[in-house]
Amino acid sequence: MRDEVRDCIIIGGGASGLFAASYLKYLKPSLDITLIEKMPRVGKKLLLTGSGRCNITNNNVKTDKYHTDCPDRLKTVLKSFSVNDTVGFYENNLGVVLTSKDELYYPLTYRSATVLDALRFYIDERDVETVLEDPVVRISDSNNGYMVALSSGKHYSSGNVIFACGGRSYPKTGSDGSSMDLIRSFVEEDDIVDFTPALVPLNSDKQDIKNLAGIRFTGSVAVVSEGTEHERSEGEILFSKDGGLTGIAILDVSDTALRLIREGKKTYASLNLTGSGAGDVLRMLYIRRQLFPVRNVCDCFSGILHRVLLENVLRDCHINPNMTAASINDNGLALLSNTISNWMIPITGSKGFDDAQVSSGGIKLSSLTDNLEYSKSRGLYFAGEAINVNGICGGYNLQWAWSSAACAARGVLNV
Ligand SMILES: Cc1cc2nc3c(=O)[nH]c(=O)nc-3n(C[C@H](O)[C@H](O)[C@H](O)COP(=O)(O)OP(=O)(O)OC[C@H]3O[C@@H](n4cnc5c(N)ncnc54)[C@H](O)[C@@H]3O)c2cc1C
Repeated sequence: MRDEVRDCIIIGGGASGLFAASYLKYLKPSLDITLIEKMPRVGKKLLLTGSGRCNITNNNVKTDKYHTDCPDRLKTVLKSFSVNDTVGFYENNLGVVLTSKDELYYPLTYRSATVLDALRFYIDERDVETVLEDPVVRISDSNNGYMVALSSGKHYSSGNVIFACGGRSYPKTGSDGSSMDLIRSFVEEDDIVDFTPALVPLNSDKQDIKNLAGIRFTGSVAVVSEGTEHERSEGEILFSKDGGLTGIAILDVSDTALRLIREGKKTYASLNLTGSGAGDVLRMLYIRRQLFPVRNVCDCFSGILHRVLLENVLRDCHINPNMTAASINDNGLALLSNTISNWMIPITGSKGFDDAQVSSGGIKLSSLTDNLEYSKSRGLYFAGEAINVNGICGGYNLQWAWSSAACAARGVLNV
């Protein structure tokens, strides 16, 4: 069978692959492009984003919101296709009106299908060939650059391939990490970081927090190991059914916690249960002890935090919940306020890829050029989660998908 020759082949029809196709067509309408997707539909993961609302980007995109092996190149890529460029391209070319709330951008419809449809229509109307339900099974050298073989037996070849196969998170959406094997004959082993779950609920072996399942609060979490605070995040925190922790603040620090555990370090999530400093909490406790001295401790302080949570904290402080508030001395109050502000929960690991919003790992950013071409194999470009870049919650990961796709597209066209 003869190869079908194309100007560019895009492998993967997720956020980054679809955006790369759109941007290539915007820059050069005559370009002959084939986009190959293994699932029956493109953009399965994109549809799930932001709980179906698609948090498309964030006004506050900076390198410190991401984990990567090469922050300098990350900065270059995010700058070369910025949040303003994203908003402009969606509004002026793809026809999606965006709205922002607390720095977070969403489509005005608050529907991820609006974003997916806009990308699909744009590339369909511009004659991008989209091949569905036909995974790429091999990439090899050819006279035209690369030969891309599909499971159906079809072959395409091109001097430019954009590898946009995603990471390993939510494998039921199509990205299960196995496609990294396709590039192993071109890419040195040292340039690939194994995928691990990121933005993922954390597990704890602290048995006596299982009764807290379903309780949520707005506070903050610090990842602490060997007496050092490594990362902190604020927002919603939720105790999960199996004695673990989840919520946006937990997901945001999960990558750091897991890295420390992989390094063999005893790691804790230090929870601030009220979001206030220990001094403020101590003042609240004093005031309540003065107001309600004859109430039992639980009844006296339950206005400060969830009653069941308070009972657990009291137990860890060895304070009997049935004693009167007046009988707790100042040292007891200080211990209680410190524990409410820094409740140390040991972290033992995390849920798996099925529950991870993104994965960390992929091809090292340091092994790519500023246009995200593999520095040791001309014409092989990367985009999205397949690259070793992962951000916190809030639109940062999709911004990476858009910026990296645009950079790879510019690389293909050498502009
Ligand atoms: C539940 C959930 C909610 C999220 N919410 C947000 C959010 O609101 N904001 C945000 O910024 N980020 C969010 N993310 C993260 C965001 O969805 C990802 O960062 C983004 O989708 C990555 O895009 P991608 O194109 O790199 O990978 P993917 O979207 O995973 O696309 C890769 C595609 O490649 C295809 N593929 C793989 N191998 C092959 C092959 N061999 N041949 C052909 N095709 C192949 C896959 O089927 C898949 O369609 C969320 C993620 C999840 C799971």
